[in-house]
Amino acid sequence: MRISDIGGEFGLIKRLADKKTDDPAIVKGIGDDCSVLKYVDGKYLLVTTDMLVENIHFNLKWQSPFQVGVKLMEANVSDIVAMGGTPKYALLSMSIKKDTSVEFMDELYRGIYASSNRHNIALIGGDTIHGTEYAFSVTLLGEVDKKLLRLRSMARVGDLICVTGRLGGSSAGLILLSHDKKDYSSRYLEPRSRSAEEGRTIAKHANAMIDVSDGLGSEVRHICDESNTGARIDFEKIPLSDAVIEAVKFVSQDPHYLALYSGEDFEIVFTLSKENVAKLRKEFSDFNVIGKIIDDKEGVYISKGKQKIEIKGGYDHFL
Ligand code: ADP
Ligand code: MG
Repeated sequence: MRISDIGGEFGLIKRLADKKTDDPAIVKGIGDDCSVLKYVDGKYLLVTTDMLVENIHFNLKWQSPFQVGVKLMEANVSDIVAMGGTPKYALLSMSIKKDTSVEFMDELYRGIYASSNRHNIALIGGDTIHGTEYAFSVTLLGEVDKKLLRLRSMARVGDLICVTGRLGGSSAGLILLSHDKKDYSSRYLEPRSRSAEEGRTIAKHANAMIDVSDGLGSEVRHICDESNTGARIDFEKIPLSDAVIEAVKFVSQDPHYLALYSGEDFEIVFTLSKENVAKLRKEFSDFNVIGKIIDDKEGVYISKGKQKIEIKGGYDHFL
């Protein structure tokens, strides 16, 4: 049996890790951007891990080791921010080639520290082995005020669906790079997570939150699966990055679809009541309303004129 036969990455995780535990310290186990554990008074501990492998997640032809270091940290920070949390401590495990130069590692760590300093993260440990290709994995710990914890499961029917910034920059950057166009490539080569401060501000007003790692379509599906709701995304309201507009000149794809299924944008998708949109806008305005949480029975779809188009999952390595 192949992994694609059981529904790809998410089917596999469900099969291997669907064991319930009654440990009272686990507030949320598998199934959100971070695991949530009991911690000190008024706060929960957040734990997340993300891995980058050479030639799958990065390509040294295009990306400098500095940029790989930045991307590794930012991908993890984004998962903490998407829970309403603040990143604190990182462990970095790596498989490196035997002939790796010290200069390469210095550059990788310059990227790690550039991102860590930006987010006030301390590197507290890791593991180093040698292998035939580069693989880097960060485990990031953070904390969240109990009242700011935002899970994928907290969306309510009637909530508006919003997304920060503009979408598609990462995938479009890669398309442009493969056509020898370096402009617009920074979102792919050196992505930035939203800051913890922005995440906390959103969390004050939002119900559910998730970050865009596999694509808007996939993230909205996760919110709906966990919250037992449906969702309508308004096609024309999907905010497009400049890179998307440029990239579709090279591929025959509708720019909105490119943005909808683009992974690694590290923007935040969130849902909130209509009244809270104006309240949030007073404190943070870089977001767009793109749809609505609706009843489970109505499904998860894109509304384009009179058409209702089912939302597919996002990028999956195994499908
Ligand atoms: P994200 O894109 O937000 O980093 P993922 O899609 O990687 O999240 O993972 C979804 C959920 O599945 C998370 O809760 C994660 O901790 C869990 N998960 C992923 N891989 C494994 C695994 N190999 N074993 C157990 N849990 C896993
Ligand atoms: Mg995530």
